[in-house]
Amino acid sequence: MSLAGKRKQTRQIRVGNVNVGGGAPVAVQSMTNTYTQDVSATVAQIRALTDAGCEIVRVAVPDMEAARAVEAIKAQIDIPLIADIHFDYRLAIAACRAGADGLRINPGNIGEAGKIRAVVDCAKSSGVPIRIGVNAGSLEKDIAETMGATAEAMVESALRNITILHDLDFHDIKISLKASDVSRTVEAYRLMASKTDVPLHVGVTEAGGLYAGITKSAIGIGMLLAEGIGDTIRVSLTRDPVEEIRTAWEILRALDIRKRGPEIISCPTCGRCRIDLFKIAEDVEKALIKSSKTIKVAIMGCVVNGPGEAKEADLGIAGGDGTGVLFKKGKIVKKCKQEMLVDVLLDEIDQMKGE
Ligand code: SF4
Repeated sequence: MSLAGKRKQTRQIRVGNVNVGGGAPVAVQSMTNTYTQDVSATVAQIRALTDAGCEIVRVAVPDMEAARAVEAIKAQIDIPLIADIHFDYRLAIAACRAGADGLRINPGNIGEAGKIRAVVDCAKSSGVPIRIGVNAGSLEKDIAETMGATAEAMVESALRNITILHDLDFHDIKISLKASDVSRTVEAYRLMASKTDVPLHVGVTEAGGLYAGITKSAIGIGMLLAEGIGDTIRVSLTRDPVEEIRTAWEILRALDIRKRGPEIISCPTCGRCRIDLFKIAEDVEKALIKSSKTIKVAIMGCVVNGPGEAKEADLGIAGGDGTGVLFKKGKIVKKCKQEMLVDVLLDEIDQMKGE
């Protein structure tokens, strides 16, 4: 049974061909860390992200060259692209005209009303949604001075930005409320969810390196998803963004919200293990990153206990001293040389039926 509660009903928007909110599956997204102006590097990274299960990608648009690059990037990728812009309305318009499927820009930061209207007109005529991205570290001066960098202040900033867009009769909006600590992030999203039906992009920002980032994201995003809050998620790690996608899918899988590809379970090893199980597990994980078969695969350290310990796995391998075994549902079905184990397992997975 899913750990996640009933999803909070939000208004549905469309980012390219991906629905967000309104009961659509929680969408997984990430952001490239290549120079957007470098089209081939950016396309290569987006393809790697797509292979790993990324459904929406965001690119930084710091200048006009990057805004123009959006067109060439879009022509070579298969998932919707969001242009991330700070302040400069001309970049938002250029990215929109270049074919971006969404804009991330805070209208309150753009300046004059005429400039905001120009961005909104462009987004409207292109059918492109806008994400208002509130960050605890860069709140409007007056809000920060009176309310501090609190969850309430983040929500106040979001509501102010929403009002600007609603006043221009623009409603294709998503909101994110990010702080670098879990408690403020969770508090802000809970408060926001109680006040509006705008779809929510959930994440903990600047979460840190692999351990801190995964932990904070899993707890922060996981708590919110478990309460039915969150329509699209972005894990933020100081790493290759492919790791963000892997983490996002593990969070969704752990909560039984969505599944993608094989679930790999592996033992922690102990004094009985005679093989390099860490490397084997990593090799299998890498080999299966593109697989969409929803099977459970076990990688166990020893023949004596492994198959029994991983009875619920569809398929697994267990190492021994020189030889290893392949097992199905806890029963040994094949023996082979230890160095053949990974290949034997992958061949067997190839032959299995799956999605
Ligand atoms: S499967 Fe074997 S090696 Fe792994 S933890 Fe269990 S007993 Fe130890």
